[in-house]
Amino acid sequence: MDFNLSPKSEEILRCAEDFFDKEVLPRHREWVQTVCRDRKPPVFIKEIQEKAKELGLWNLGLPNLADDEPGTRLTNLEFAPIAEILGRLPWGSMVFNCHAPEVPNMAMLQALVTPEQKEKYLNPLLNGETRSSFAMTEPDVASSDATNIATEIREEGDELVLNGRKWFATGGAHPDCSFLIVMGVSDPDAGRTAQHSMVLVPIDTPGLTLVRELRFMGWEDFVAPIGEFRLENVRVPKSNLLGERGQGFKGAQVRLGPARIHHSMRCIGMAEMVLAQMIARAHERKTFGRTVVEYDTVQKWIAEARIDIDLNRLFIQKAAWLLDTSPHNNTWRAVSQVKVSVPRMLQKVTDRAIQLFGAMGGTDDTLIHHAHSYARWFRIGDGPDEVHLRQIFKTEPVPEWSIAECPYIAPGGF
Ligand SMILES: Cc1cc2nc3c(=O)[nH]c(=O)nc-3n(C[C@H](O)[C@H](O)[C@H](O)COP(=O)(O)OP(=O)(O)OC[C@H]3O[C@@H](n4cnc5c(N)ncnc54)[C@H](O)[C@@H]3O)c2cc1C
Repeated sequence: MDFNLSPKSEEILRCAEDFFDKEVLPRHREWVQTVCRDRKPPVFIKEIQEKAKELGLWNLGLPNLADDEPGTRLTNLEFAPIAEILGRLPWGSMVFNCHAPEVPNMAMLQALVTPEQKEKYLNPLLNGETRSSFAMTEPDVASSDATNIATEIREEGDELVLNGRKWFATGGAHPDCSFLIVMGVSDPDAGRTAQHSMVLVPIDTPGLTLVRELRFMGWEDFVAPIGEFRLENVRVPKSNLLGERGQGFKGAQVRLGPARIHHSMRCIGMAEMVLAQMIARAHERKTFGRTVVEYDTVQKWIAEARIDIDLNRLFIQKAAWLLDTSPHNNTWRAVSQVKVSVPRMLQKVTDRAIQLFGAMGGTDDTLIHHAHSYARWFRIGDGPDEVHLRQIFKTEPVPEWSIAECPYIAPGGF
């Protein structure tokens, strides 16, 4: 395994870090003040997006861009350190058009669109002119088992007619979201994994209603607000079918790799940002005649956070490298391992940081509580821990020997 960056990607990393330090981070307070006041992202976002684009810092999370598609063409491994830096702020990634759910959606569209769909749906996303949302999860069924998805897709003449309910469609409540990618049942009589298809549904299609915006653990997401939708006799042309009919699950696999690993990369950035604040705070506060950092417990928390962050970063690099070089079963196992391990790490680090900060740690003034709820949702979204653990368990081979024949067991001992 080779985790070295090429000179080109080193240069892009330096450029992205410099841009983040000079153009993004200094505006975080303005971002917070504006979203609190106006309930929408500040206009300066468009302005700095343009600057980033001019510098070529665009679509950083998409390795397989075609010749006519703008962006850096970094591999997943090369993107990892940049995603980490951008992940320190909830809105960092969107400056460079490499935020969720757009990147996984774009990766999936790249693999599946027809030329007409590319023109209408993919290109505007690649140019940062519009937004999208992936609508699979439904309130009425346990969606961690995706074969439960029940939204009906019926063929009528030249049209597809959709009926059902969707929720937790990240980005679906964003004012610029122009279409949903809806997963539903098109072939109820086919085998369990061949019943579902994906359909591109423009947001202004009659019968599609945004019921409400959802918050997870109270966090109001101004980057990709979450939508709940009702679909009542929603009609779109048959040409809006994305990928092959009955192959919805297979098609959606394409978005799972980038979705899971990029969130994990951002989690490392959040953990670093939280750890730095923990250390600063521990050096400043005094209780019972000592600075907090002098207590063993706090030193242990800081040291353990460093170990956990570095281990998980390495783990991500391995999964990213596998994703770039060998898209086979080992890769999916590595991505699942990362997907379970990283949010647990972030949850532990942020929980201790909240404790160390005292009451302030739970306020919106710091990003610690945002990072904490991010860790918590990521243990459910994109497949709950238990589902990934089950997959990992299944890849563990059973030894060929029985315990009685185990060559490592020698009666008598030493
Ligand atoms: C912030 C956020 C953003 C999201 N964004 C999107 C999005 O953009 N698009 C989208 O379609 N969905 C999205 N989701 C939904 C997410 O993917 C689902 O919540 C997830 O798949 C779980 O489905 P469920 O909520 O129906 O839980 P259920 O399926 O009801 O599962 C509940 C629990 O059952 C347990 N469980 C399930 N299977 C097993 C098993 N095999 N073994 C042991 N225990 C098990 C787990 O503990 C699991 O958490 C998002 C969710 C959150 C929280």
